Amino acid sequence: MNFPPLPPRFDLTEVQNIVKALKNNKLWPYPVDDATGMVNLAVKGLRDFFGVPYVVPTSSGTASIHTALGGLKIAAGTEVVLPPITDAGTVTPIIFQNAIPVFADVDPVTSTVTAKTVEAVITDKTSAVIVVHLAGCPVDIQPIVDLCKARNIRLIEDAAQALAATYAGKYVGTFGDIGCFSLNDQKHITCGEGGFITVHDEETYFQAHNFSDKYYDRHNRGVRYHGVGLNYRLSELDGAMIISQLPKLCSVIERRRKAGDLLTTMLRDLRGVIPQVGPQDTEHSYFFFMFRFDPQVITKPREAIIQSLNGNGIKARGGYVEQMLYKTKVFREKSFFAGGVWPAELAAQKQYDYTRVNLPDAELANSTTVSFSFHHGLSETNVKEIFEHIRTSLV
Ligand SMILES: *Cc1c(COP(=O)(O)O)cnc(C)c1O
Repeated sequence: MNFPPLPPRFDLTEVQNIVKALKNNKLWPYPVDDATGMVNLAVKGLRDFFGVPYVVPTSSGTASIHTALGGLKIAAGTEVVLPPITDAGTVTPIIFQNAIPVFADVDPVTSTVTAKTVEAVITDKTSAVIVVHLAGCPVDIQPIVDLCKARNIRLIEDAAQALAATYAGKYVGTFGDIGCFSLNDQKHITCGEGGFITVHDEETYFQAHNFSDKYYDRHNRGVRYHGVGLNYRLSELDGAMIISQLPKLCSVIERRRKAGDLLTTMLRDLRGVIPQVGPQDTEHSYFFFMFRFDPQVITKPREAIIQSLNGNGIKARGGYVEQMLYKTKVFREKSFFAGGVWPAELAAQKQYDYTRVNLPDAELANSTTVSFSFHHGLSETNVKEIFEHIRTSLV
C-alpha cells in the first residue's frame, strides 16, 4: 500500500504567534508574572487543558523526568521503579539524580507495569515509581496510586506517548504526584523540542521550577542557591509553538483514536493476535501502533512477519526496545559514568547486579510485539488495507 504521509501539522497560526513572540522583543519567559509571554500563555493553556493547578515547562521529555525527580526531592541512593520497555529518557535522569533504577515486570498484553509487578520489586529503599503509558495505552493507574499512597512512595507518570489518553474519564499524567510530557517532533503535538510537567501542590511546584532553572528563585521566595538546578527552560518561540499546537490536539487525538480503535477491533478477531488494549474505561492515544502475537498459534518468525509488512509499505519493526534496558551494555557493566564509579551505589551502600534481573513477561511481550508508526491522517480505507496486510503477513 501507499502508506499516507503525516498530514501537514503547521499553518499560519504558528507563523503569527512566532511573529508575535519576536515583536515582544524578548525570547525568554520572564518575569513569571508576564501575562502576555508565550511560555506563560502556554503554561496557562496546559493548566486549563489538564485541570491541574501547576505546570512547569521543560526543554524535553527527558528534562521533564529529571525535573520531576528533582521536584520531588528523590534522595541519592534510593530506588526508583520503572519498566524495562521504555525510552532512554525515562531512565537516564534517574542515573543522573544518583538514584537506582529498579525494573518491574509488565503485563504482557499492554507492555506496561501493574500494581502487582510494581509491588513485587518495592523494598524499604524505594522512593518513587515511574509508570510509562507506552504507545499511548493507559496503565491501570488507580491500583498503583493506591499502592504508592499506602507505602508512602512518590508516583511519576511518564505520559510522553500518551497526550490526551484517558483513564476513568481523566487525562493520564494527572493521577500521580507529577505527570511528565514531551513535545519533541515525534509526539502528538510539538514545539520542536520541549516538554512540561503537571504538578498538584505548591511546594513541589516551586521546587521543580527552581530545579528546572538553576535555582534562580524566579518567584522571589528568598531561596536563591538553596539547592542546585539545571537549565531546562523553554524559549518564547517554543511557547508560541505550544499555544498554536495545543488547540489542535483534540482533533489529532480524535482522528488517531478513530483509526486506532478500528484497527484494534478488527485485529481482535484474528486468532493468535493480541492487540494492545488498556484496562476498562480507558482511551488510547495511539502514539504508534503495536500488537502482539501468540507464538503458540502464529508460528511464523517475527522477522518474516515484519518483512512481509515492510514489503507492503508498512514500516514495521519489532518491540519498542531492541533489548530490555537491563540487558544493555551500559546496565550490564554499570558503566554510567567515566572513571568506574557509580555514585548511587555508594550512596545506597549496596551492590546491584543487572545481569541477574529476570522479567519473563517483559521479555515475552517485547519479543512477540510488532509495531509500526501511526498517525491521524489514516482513513478508514487505509486502516482496512493495513488490517489486510497484517492478516496476510501472519501466515
Ligand atoms: C519521547 C519520550 C521521552 C523523552 O522525551 P524527549 O523529549 O525526547 O527527551 C521520555 N519517555 C517516553 C516514554 C518518550 O516516548
